[in-house]
Amino acid sequence: MTLKMQAAVVEQFGKPLVLKEVDVPTPGPGEILIKTEACGVCHTDLHAANGDWPLKPTLPFTPGHEGIGIVTALGAGVTAVKAGDRVGVPWLYSACGHCEYCLAARETVCADAQFGGYTKNGGFAEYIVADPNYVAHIPAGLSPFEAAPLICAGITSYKGIKETQARPGEWVVVSGVGGLGHLGIQYAKAMGLHVCAVDIDDGKLDHAKRLGADAMVNAKHGDPVAAVKKATGGGAHGVLITAPSLGAFKQGVGMTRKFGTCVLVGLPPGEFPTPLFDVVANCITIRGSFVGNRGDMAEALEFAAEGRVKADIELQPLSAINTIFGRLAKGEVPSRVVLDWANT
Ligand code: NAD
Ligand code: ZN
Ligand code: ZN
Repeated sequence: MTLKMQAAVVEQFGKPLVLKEVDVPTPGPGEILIKTEACGVCHTDLHAANGDWPLKPTLPFTPGHEGIGIVTALGAGVTAVKAGDRVGVPWLYSACGHCEYCLAARETVCADAQFGGYTKNGGFAEYIVADPNYVAHIPAGLSPFEAAPLICAGITSYKGIKETQARPGEWVVVSGVGGLGHLGIQYAKAMGLHVCAVDIDDGKLDHAKRLGADAMVNAKHGDPVAAVKKATGGGAHGVLITAPSLGAFKQGVGMTRKFGTCVLVGLPPGEFPTPLFDVVANCITIRGSFVGNRGDMAEALEFAAEGRVKADIELQPLSAINTIFGRLAKGEVPSRVVLDWANT
C-alpha cells in the first residue's frame, strides 16, 4: 500500500494552491527522504505559483524551499547524512558538481542546477525528497521554525550584503524589510555596517529600527533617494534591493554612493530603467546575486546559532497557505510565515 501525505500543489498558474493527498515519494539511489517539521513561505513561492518568470516550473508542482525536517529514509549509496539528522532543503536543490561554476563554488548558476519547490517538489508537503549533497545542516540549538527562513531569506540577504563589498563602518541600504530584508539588516549589523532601511510601510520601518537599523526611509513619501543620501552622507557604499517592486530598483541605483555597489536580489517580473549617465559617471557597480553556495549557507546558519541573527516568525498551518499568499502579495506579512506541521 502506498503511503499518502498532505501537500499544497500548484495545478494552474495564478490560481489558489490545491490542498490534497498525494503519494509519499520514495527516495531513489543517492536521494534521501525528509519528514517535514517546518517550511518558510518565501515571496519566490508566490512568483512560482503565478508563473511570473521566463523559466516556468512544470505543472503540477509543490512549492517551498525553506523546508526543514528529519531524515527518515536513505536511498542506496547515501553516506553524506544519516537517519535522524535535521536538514533543510533549499532553493539550490542540486547542481552538476563539475562545470566551471560548480568548481568555483558558484554552483547556483550551474546550467544543470535543480531548484527546490520549483523544478523539484518542495516543502509545502509532509515529506520531501532531497539530494544529501546539497541539504543545509541545521546546527544543534536552532529550532526547525527558527532555521526555516534562514535557508533562503537568510542566506540570500547575507550573501547579498557580502556582494556589496561594503566594509565595517560603511553604510548599506536594505530596501524591502520583509522576509529577506529583516534578516539582511541583522546580518549587516553583525558585520559592523551602518544600515539605512527603506520600505513603503511604516510598520516595517519601526521593525527595522527595533532590529538595529540606524536610519529609516519611507519610499512612499517625498524623495527617498535624497533622504538616503542625506542619512548616509552621500549615498550608501552598498545597496541591497530585496523589494519585489520595480520602483525600488531605479531608486536603489540612485541611493548608491560613487564607486559603490548596488546588489539586486528582488525578482519582480519585468525590467527597470537604468540611469546610464549616473551609473557611468559615478562608477557604480550593479550586480545580481542568486541565493548563495553551501559555504554561505553554513555561515548564514552559524550567525543564528551564535545568537547574532534571529528570524521573526509567525507559525501557520499548511491549510492557511492561500490566505498567506494573499497577505504576502499585499505586503501584509510582518516578516516570515513558517508552516508548522505539528498544527497541520
Ligand atoms: P516579502 O514580501 O517578505 O518582503 C518584501 C518587502 O518589500 C515588504 O516589506 C514590502 O513592504 C517591501 N516593498 C514593497 N515595495 C517596496 C518599494 N517600492 N520599496 C521598498 N520596499 C518595498 O518578500 P521576500 O520573501 O523578502 O522576497 C523579496 C524578493 O526577493 C522576492 O521578489 C523574491 O522572489 C526575491 N528573492 C530572491 C532571491 C535571490 O536569490 N535573488 C532569493 C529569495 C527571494
Ligand atoms: Zn555545475
Ligand atoms: Zn526564497
